[in-house]
Amino acid sequence: MGAINCKKHGRQLIIEVCEHAYEALHSRQKLDLLKIPILNLRVCTSCYDQFRFQAVPDITIEDLLELDDEEADRIGDFVHGKYDQVNRKVMCVACYNELKEKH
Ligand SMILES: [Zn+2]
Ligand SMILES: [Zn+2]
Repeated sequence: MGAINCKKHGRQLIIEVCEHAYEALHSRQKLDLLKIPILNLRVCTSCYDQFRFQAVPDITIEDLLELDDEEADRIGDFVHGKYDQVNRKVMCVACYNELKEKH
């Protein structure tokens, strides 16, 4: 997980969102966001359906490390294939939480 130097909040952890989620958060539109724990990613429902995130196991990175290597590699490759397809934007976690509260 990376960090960002936010103009407003200083050094913060990052969170990634799809481009639509990013737009909606900044323009205060209402948009349902779905969490992909293993990727620390939030996507809108249309990205979720388009990239078939329902096929991604609902586990965290920590859970993945508990699995045996072969299984972990298989899931890791699968998940990153999807991750690469999403047009992502990086946000500071504090900004994300602030914007989300205003919804
Ligand atoms: Zn989206
Ligand atoms: Zn911030």
